[in-house]
Order: sequence, then C-alpha cells, then structure tokens
Amino acid sequence: MPTKYIFVTGGVMSGVGKGVAAASIGKILQSSGFSVTAIKIDPYVNVDAGTMSPTEHGEVFVLDDGMECDQDMGNYERFLDTSLSGANYMTTGSVYLSVINKERAMEYGGKCVDVVPQIPLEVINRINNAAKKNHSDIVIIEVGGTVGEYQNILFLEAIRMLKIKRPKDVVVVLVSFIPALGAGGNELKTKPTQYAVKSLNSVGIQPDIILARAPGTLDQKRKEKIQFMCGLEEGDVVSAPNVESIYEIPVNLENDNISGRILKKLFLKPKNKDLEEWRAFVHGIQNPNGEVKIGIVGKYFGSGDFILTDSYISVLESVRHAAYAWDKKPVVEWLDSNTYEKDEKTLSELKKYDGIIVPGGFGNRGVEGKIKAIGYCRKNKIPFLGLCLGLQLSVIEFARNVAGIKDATSREFEKNPKNPVIDVMDEQKDLLKEKRYGGTMRLGAYDCQLTPGTVSQKTYDASLISERHRHRYEVNNTYLDGLMEKGLVIAGINPKSNLVEIIEIQNHPFFVATQFHPEFKSRPMKPHPLFKEFIRVAIGQK
Ligand code: GLN
Repeated sequence: MPTKYIFVTGGVMSGVGKGVAAASIGKILQSSGFSVTAIKIDPYVNVDAGTMSPTEHGEVFVLDDGMECDQDMGNYERFLDTSLSGANYMTTGSVYLSVINKERAMEYGGKCVDVVPQIPLEVINRINNAAKKNHSDIVIIEVGGTVGEYQNILFLEAIRMLKIKRPKDVVVVLVSFIPALGAGGNELKTKPTQYAVKSLNSVGIQPDIILARAPGTLDQKRKEKIQFMCGLEEGDVVSAPNVESIYEIPVNLENDNISGRILKKLFLKPKNKDLEEWRAFVHGIQNPNGEVKIGIVGKYFGSGDFILTDSYISVLESVRHAAYAWDKKPVVEWLDSNTYEKDEKTLSELKKYDGIIVPGGFGNRGVEGKIKAIGYCRKNKIPFLGLCLGLQLSVIEFARNVAGIKDATSREFEKNPKNPVIDVMDEQKDLLKEKRYGGTMRLGAYDCQLTPGTVSQKTYDASLISERHRHRYEVNNTYLDGLMEKGLVIAGINPKSNLVEIIEIQNHPFFVATQFHPEFKSRPMKPHPLFKEFIRVAIGQK
C-alpha cells in the first residue's frame, strides 16, 4: 500500500493540544490495525530543542539516538508505545542546514538553489525517510505553530505540494480552538476557526477534518455551522472537549468516528482491531481506588499563578502511569526549592507527601534548597526518587552530611571547587572551552550494569538495562570508595566508561537516584519499573 500522510495543523492559537491530538489519532489508527509513526515539525531556527530553556519551550525530550526534541515526541512515544528516532523530528534550522550542506557538496548539480521548492522538497524527503525507516503504513505529521503565521509557511507549502501529487494519500486535520463567551461562558464561538480555515485556504490548503477544541462538547448546530462555512463534508467536524486525563482523548475522538472519516478519505478499510484495551485503561483511570500524593521539588515552574508543569511533563506522566498501575489517582504538587533555601522550617511540609521526586535541572539556582529537601527525605525515611540532577544532588548531600566532606559540590555550581564530587569529564571540558553547547552533552541511550541484590536490580529484574541521558556532569569516581565506605550503594554503572548510573541508600524504604532519565521510557500501560516501585512503596502496598 502507498504511504498515507495525515498532517495536523493548528488554528487560532498555540497550545490547543495538537501534539496530543496527533498522538491520539495515531493511537486510534494503530488500534485499527495499521502501523503508524509520527513526525514533529518545529518552525524555529534552533537545529534541535537542546539549546532552549525549559521555561521557554517546556521539557526537552530525548530519544534513544540522543536527539533532543520537542516534548510532543514524548506524547507520540507514549501513545503509540514505540521508540522513535531523530528521523522523526525536524526544525526549520535542521532543514535549512541539510539543504545548505547539500549545496556545499554540489548535490544540486550546479543549479540555483531556491527556498521554494528546495525547502519543502527536503521536508517531504524527510517525511518519506521516516516512513520508510519505521515501516509505517500511515505517517502523522504535526506542523508546529499556528496557521497564518510566517514561520511555518514552507511546511504548509510541503503539504500543498504533496497533496497535489498524491490527493488520495493525504489528509489535513486542523486542530482549532473554539472559545466560549457569554454570561455563563457557554456560548461557543466559531468565527476564529472560520478565519483559520481562510488563512489555510490562502496557502492552497483545504482542511479535510476540523478538530474542535473547546471547553465542552460541540453541539450539532455549531458543527453544522463550521462544516458549512468552512466547506467540509458532513461528519468532518470532530468534537474535542477538555478532559481530565489526556488519555481520554482517543476515546472521545473515536466516539465522533474520527477513524472512520480519516480512513474513508485515505481509501483505506479498517482491519479488525478496535480501541477496547485503551478504553479499559481509561476506565481504570476514571475509577481509582484512593490516591497517591507526590511532591516534585523543582524550579522551572514559571512565576505568578501559572505553573509551567510542561517543564517536567515526562516526569508527571511517569508518575501517572505508575499510579494507574496501582489503581491510584495521582495527585502531584509542585514544590519550589527556593522556599527551603530561604527557610528550613518549611521542609516539614515534605511529610505531607507519600513520596518526593527531585527531577533534572541546570545551573545553581535553587540547588541548595533541593539538597536540603533530599537530606530531609533521607533522614525522615520519605520515599525518594532522584532524576539526573536529583542523583548529583543526592551524592552531594550524602558527601556533605554523611561522609563529612562539608564543601562537597558540583563543578557546575562553583568555578574552582575543592571537592567536586560531581565533575565534568575531560571530553566535555574541551567542548565547553570551545563554547560548543548544542548537542554536546552525554545524550541518548547508554547501557547500565545493575549491581546484584540492590533495590534497582530487583526492581528491573534484569542485569543489563539501557536508559536515556542528558547531562554534562558525572559522579567523580575518585570519591567513590570513600562514599561507599559510608554506606552509599552504587546500584548501576555504565560498563564501558565506569560512570555511576544509579545510587541507593540503605535502611530506607526507598531512596533511589539515577543519572539517566527513566521518565523518557515510561508508557501508559507499561509504567517504568523504578516509578512503579517508587509508587508501590509510597502507597505502602505489599
Ligand atoms: N545539570 C546537570 C548536568 O548537566 C544535570 C542535568 C539534568 O538534570 N538533566 O549534568
């Protein structure tokens, strides 16, 4: 069968949930028996997402091959239960970079290289490569940004070109926002969506399906209005109301028969699978048996009333997956580490939680507060999970307060530290000297050999595992013997480089910290073993 393409674009404003919509459509079609892959196109000039601050653009998600990309790639991996590669991600910067490199290598045979058609052709090329690499029947391509803005115009041109060539193989979905106005806030307004469609039309694209993102379910009258004003066939406006859990979205979309509409337009017949397993999973989420309360101590929360939990989205999802596995409703609260730095008495609030997580982070702002929180969890036997920076700070806390190295620190926080128990490796030092920051950390999948008998080894029930990394600093092995003598457990190391991957503390219900990011590999119905065990201990389950 020829490859089929579903483009997902966004109308009216950003943040309408295009990524989750794309992932949900993928899930539904996968459940109908097709092999599906998903691609994210980001319109910015950054070559990858690695150089962007989390408060700027949310979490930087990392793939096995080390690609640093947009958090939506995490949604695709989670919904489709698959591992993707860098072939499934592109930005304006990366597309231009490869066109320019090809030009320098004389690959355009002496021709004048123009933005159109070469940039859109390169985009189409990359989409086809990803489809081939993933052996997919259907590729879902999410175009970042909002229709009508300048940034994504060349990507829209790629859609137009592909649709002209392959009219039976391309479907365009517009995810559009329907605001609610009026006294009771229940008057759903369709005009912004009509403008969004006009602006898509102006670049030669007619959407096939409109996903109406609204606070509530779209009534038939409003659907008909959008259909008529935007030139859609009956049934092609699909309601996408707000939900409590994003995992309800495939069920909601399918209740409006989205797969039937899409497959018909692609001249495909559903094979005989359905969404049953997913529906049962969602039913479980909606009917929990008690709750588990987890505190996440961090700093990328933004300011004011808006909490930017997007910075830790994979951590949050991993907690959710693990809680669902134990039939619990996950209750996550964000704790600002700066508070503990200013006033140690506030630490006692940590006792309110069943478990505490210290996730990844960069720079020295807020670290002293996190170290205090870690020490509090260690002494008060509160279940604790440290992730990346969370491991580094756990080692510092242990070195200072158990091993007596009072000035233990990381080279990340101090220029000439006397006791850098966390240090930078030589090859990283050279990169830093050359001011090469983009794509130069320890990135992507590395093996980890587990130490027999440790909590981690028993939890994974394996001896060799592979997990994803994104960090520049490492545990300094010259301090290891001393720390181990005082009781620090090294539960996992990288067999090639001997770098520490997991630490544990004994005589504690659960104190595990990882140099890698386990949160990148948790899936809705396959929670990550460490998160699952952390939650099990947190709820006191036998
Ligand atoms: N800042 C630390 C490092 O670069 C930790 C990074 C992280 O938590 N992802 O090593």
